[in-house]
Amino acid sequence: MKHYDALIFMGIQGSGKGTQARLLADEFGYSILEAGKILREEAASGSSLGKKIDEIIHGKGELVPDEITKELVKNFLNDIQEGTPVIFDAYPRTLVQLHDLEEILKEHNIANYRVVYFTLTDDEAMKRLLSRRECESCKAPTSDSAEEACKKCGGTLVRRKDDEPEKIQKRLAWSHKETQPVVDAYEEKGVLIVVDGNESIDQVYEELKQKLA
Ligand code: AMP
Repeated sequence: MKHYDALIFMGIQGSGKGTQARLLADEFGYSILEAGKILREEAASGSSLGKKIDEIIHGKGELVPDEITKELVKNFLNDIQEGTPVIFDAYPRTLVQLHDLEEILKEHNIANYRVVYFTLTDDEAMKRLLSRRECESCKAPTSDSAEEACKKCGGTLVRRKDDEPEKIQKRLAWSHKETQPVVDAYEEKGVLIVVDGNESIDQVYEELKQKLA
């Protein structure tokens, strides 16, 4: 696979971005910036900003304002070693975030990047999100619904608070509306790669590596 300073992973919830990011990170040493995870961590911190984020993610089920997300993304990049290749998982999700990220990438001298869009039907997304679990203690996700306990710490596996049918519907709706223009903009720039996310984890990973070769 060719080397990229950054990879931007896009796709609706459940399209496998996170799973594929972890596979690529393990094999090629990428750091993963997972937007949802950074926001959930801030929400769990109990800070006043965290309380606001918690209400947006778990109460309203909406996107967190671009300004807040931008600051957390900047903090993440400032905390990792300069030069480490990064996968942006679910950032940007809006056109404003696309412009924010362009500014951030420039600040870090990152010009060599590609955007991967994982396609998935809404029906398959709903099925996957309803069966996905995360560890109650260490928050590690699992994409294998047959697992009985967390592989990392042995903790209990639970459904994420926002993975309920109504909340999933709402998230899928804004996901299509907000992220499609971002996908279109990256296509126009000539940096977009499309991968079929409906296949098995191994098949998707093979297609991903082939298209980044
Ligand atoms: P995810 O883990 O990707 O399903 O994201 C969980 C939640 O975090 C989403 O439903 C949003 O409320 C929020 N979120 C994730 N990514 C972003 C983003 N790029 N911009 C704003 N909010 C986000």
